[in-house]
Amino acid sequence: MVEERSIDSVILHTMDARAVQWKIMKSKEALIRCWSQFSTFSLQGFCHYLWLKIRGKSMMVTGSCHGCGRCCKEICLEGSEGWLRSEERFQWIVDMFPEYGRFTITGKDSQGYLLFSCTWSTEQGTCSDYENRLPLCRNYPESSLIFAGGRLLSGCGYGFAEVVPFKKVFRQELKKIR
Ligand code: SF4
Ligand code: SF4
Repeated sequence: MVEERSIDSVILHTMDARAVQWKIMKSKEALIRCWSQFSTFSLQGFCHYLWLKIRGKSMMVTGSCHGCGRCCKEICLEGSEGWLRSEERFQWIVDMFPEYGRFTITGKDSQGYLLFSCTWSTEQGTCSDYENRLPLCRNYPESSLIFAGGRLLSGCGYGFAEVVPFKKVFRQELKKIR
């Protein structure tokens, strides 16, 4: 609310009412986006994220998948309000997005998040419809996993590494030659 008021008062002098309204809407969207991003952080993950930012680093995914299929049987799912903890919320998501009906609840982890297994996973650990897997399957693992307090399964072929972003290195090198 404070941010909205300050944007309002700053731009009222230079823009017409519609532009002001648009700016406020944009700022609301930014706040909602920001909140939905931070609502997925665990306390430890958030501290880790801040520590990386302070040192000018980011998290990079390394390695590759060797196809053990274990991550299709031990899954946490994230909704618009963060990682799922309640069965009712999951049911609501399935009602809205039936493609998530492939997941079944198997329990809860130590942080109280629901654990799921995918019914598309075969006994051999492969996906029974690999071409039509969900975006979350295609994008796994993302660095947000670490910030949410999650971890890779032991023996997974992927890893995470703290790196200096290319943009930052590039800017530093540009400064040297100018
Ligand atoms: S646990 Fe890791 S190595 Fe195994 S299938 Fe999943 S991503 Fe691949
Ligand atoms: S859809 Fe396929 S890749 Fe995705 S969790 Fe299920 S079995 Fe794994």
